[in-house]
Amino acid sequence: MQENSLDINQLIKVAGLASQHAVAPSSQFRVGAALLTKHGSIYTGCNIESPVYLGICAERVALFKGLSEGARQFVALAIVCEEGGPCPPCGTCRQLLWEFAPSLQIILVEEDGSPRVHIIEELLPGPFERGGRKPFEEKDRI
Ligand code: ZN
Repeated sequence: MQENSLDINQLIKVAGLASQHAVAPSSQFRVGAALLTKHGSIYTGCNIESPVYLGICAERVALFKGLSEGARQFVALAIVCEEGGPCPPCGTCRQLLWEFAPSLQIILVEEDGSPRVHIIEELLPGPFERGGRKPFEEKDRI
């Protein structure tokens, strides 16, 4: 994939494949996420539940995988639920995604299978900012 290109259908497909790795014995709610960087790398995630009801969302796994491998310039994130229909990020994930990528495109899949693109800033009005700390600036990204 070339820099700055975005193939929404490919990203949705990758997110759907990632949902197959979900560890969701309690909820049976399987979610996959695919996070695209400016340079064309894709980091995937699935939701993971533990036996004592701790867990983490698919999109947060994808974000942390990318960050832990040095990625900083994220452009789009597809989130797919195995059962179909849109699966918007929870409040915690919205805050984290906004902090690391305030212009991130969030791609959800509607009931009819069509993609719908949102911007994280639209999904998180009035984000928490401690001490005026802003999201990552472009100059801080690698
Ligand atoms: Zn979440």
